[in-house]
Amino acid sequence: VVDRLVIVGGDAGGMAAASQVRKGAPDAEIVALERGHWTSYSACGIPYLVGGEIDDVEQLIARRPQDFRDRDRVDVRIRHEAVAVDLAARKVEVRDLERDRTYRLGFDHLLLGTGGVPVRPNLAGIDLPFVHGVQTLDDAVHLVKHAQEVSCSRVVVVGGGYIGLEIAEAFTRRGLHVTVVERNQYVLGLFDAPLGQRVTQAMRREGIEVHLQVDVLGFRDGVVLTTQGELEAELVLLGLGVAPNSALARDAGLRLGVRDAVVVDRRQRTSAEGVWAAGDCCQSRNLVSGEPVHVPLGTVANKQSRVAGINIGGGYATFPGVLGTAISRFCALEVARTGLSTAEAARAGFESVTSVIDSTTQAGYMPDAEPMTVLLVVERRTGRLLGAQIVGGAGSAKRIDTFAVAITAGMTVEQIVQLDLAYAPPFSGVWDPVQVAAREAIKQI
Ligand SMILES: Cc1cc2nc3c(=O)[nH]c(=O)nc-3n(C[C@H](O)[C@H](O)[C@H](O)COP(=O)(O)OP(=O)(O)OC[C@H]3O[C@@H](n4cnc5c(N)ncnc54)[C@H](O)[C@@H]3O)c2cc1C
Repeated sequence: VVDRLVIVGGDAGGMAAASQVRKGAPDAEIVALERGHWTSYSACGIPYLVGGEIDDVEQLIARRPQDFRDRDRVDVRIRHEAVAVDLAARKVEVRDLERDRTYRLGFDHLLLGTGGVPVRPNLAGIDLPFVHGVQTLDDAVHLVKHAQEVSCSRVVVVGGGYIGLEIAEAFTRRGLHVTVVERNQYVLGLFDAPLGQRVTQAMRREGIEVHLQVDVLGFRDGVVLTTQGELEAELVLLGLGVAPNSALARDAGLRLGVRDAVVVDRRQRTSAEGVWAAGDCCQSRNLVSGEPVHVPLGTVANKQSRVAGINIGGGYATFPGVLGTAISRFCALEVARTGLSTAEAARAGFESVTSVIDSTTQAGYMPDAEPMTVLLVVERRTGRLLGAQIVGGAGSAKRIDTFAVAITAGMTVEQIVQLDLAYAPPFSGVWDPVQVAAREAIKQI
C-alpha cells in the first residue's frame, strides 16, 4: 500500500508512472517535484523549436501541471528541486526555487526520474555562457533566447551525436553558419562507417561545415580552440551525448552502474527499499548482448516509468530491456538503427558478418523512389540478426521497426527472407529492402 509517493522529475521518466499509480492506489498521495517550468514535454521536439518549424514552446507540452492535478490528483510542484534524499528518515529535502526556501517532505515510495545531462568534458572555458547543452525544455528556451540576443550568425557543434546534429540542422534552417567538430572519422559514432559517412556527406551538401578527426581543446569568449586551429562562434552546442543525472541517487547511497546510471532490477526497483527509478537517469539491459547499458531515449523512459508506476501501485510489470532502436532525420536523410553495430557485436564476443545493400524506398521506376542503404550485422554460424542500420530518403527509416521485431523474436536472416511483407510499387520493390538486405546477408554467411 502506498501512502505517499514522491516523484522527482516532471518529464517522461517521472510522470508516465503517475496515472498507473493512481489506477492501482486510488487513495495514495502523489507529489511530483520538477525544478523547471514544465511537465511532460517533448524534448524530442526541441530541434524543431530551434529550427523554427514550431514557433511556440507550449506546443511541445503533452500534459501541464493542471492536467495532472485534474486527472490523476497529482500535487505537481514546478520550480521545486529535490536537493537531497535521506533514506533512513525517508525524507526528501526540497528547494522551492521561487520562494527561496527549503523544506523536508516525507515519503514511503520515491520515484527518481531525474533524466540526463549533456556530457560536458573538463575543458578550459566549458562553463562560459556561450557553451550550451540541451536536455530540458528550459535549456532549449535559454538556447533560442541567447541565439536571438547575441544576433548569432555562427554556431559550432562539438561532437557528432544525434542531438547535436539535429540542432546543427535546425540552426542551418534558420540561416546560420554551422560547423560540426568531430573527433572520429565520421559523425554518428553509433553507426558503422559506411552509413556514418553518408550522413557526413549529406550534412556537407546542406552547407554544414564538418571537421573530422579534430579535437576541441577549450573555449575563449567567441572562440573554440581545436587541434586544427581556432573557430569563431557566438554560440557553441555540446553534442557529445547524454550522461545520467544521478548525483541525487549517488549522494543518497543508491547503487550506480554503467556510466554512473542508477541500477534497477526488471521491475525498476533501485538498491533501496521503496525507491524506484526510470528514464535517462537509470540503467537498462541490452536484449542482444545481455550487458548493462545506458540508453537515454524517450521510448525507453516512457516504458520504464509505466512499469515502475504499475509496480508502485501494487501491480506486477517488468521491463525486459532495450535494443537501442532509434530514428532521426538529418537534412534530406532519414537514419535509423537497432540492435548491435559491428563494433558492439565484436565487443560483446559475437562472431559476426556485416552486409550492406543499396535499394530504393519504392519500386525503382516510381517517380518518388529514393535511394536507401541497409546494413545488417548477423551472427556468422547461426544467421541470427544482431543489428540493423538504415540511411536513405523519405520512407526508408521506419523500416527499422521490422528489424527490431525480428531481433526481439530471435529471427535468422533466412526467416526474415520468408516473412510475408506487404508490396505495391508506391511502397517498395517486390522484395522489400528489408528482405533484399537479408538475402545479401545469407550470401555472406
Ligand atoms: C534535443 C533532443 C532530442 C531528442 N530526440 C529524441 C527522439 O527523437 N526519440 C527519442 O526516443 N528520444 C529523444 N530524446 C531523448 C528523450 O527526450 C529523453 O530520453 C527523455 O526526455 C527522457 O525522459 P526523462 O524524464 O528520463 O528525463 P528528462 O526529459 O531529462 O526529464 C528529467 C526532468 O527532471 C527534472 N529534474 C532533474 N533533477 C531534478 C531534481 N533534483 N529535482 C526536481 N526536478 C529535477 C529536470 O528538470 C527534467 O525536467 C531527445 C532528447 C533531446 C534533448
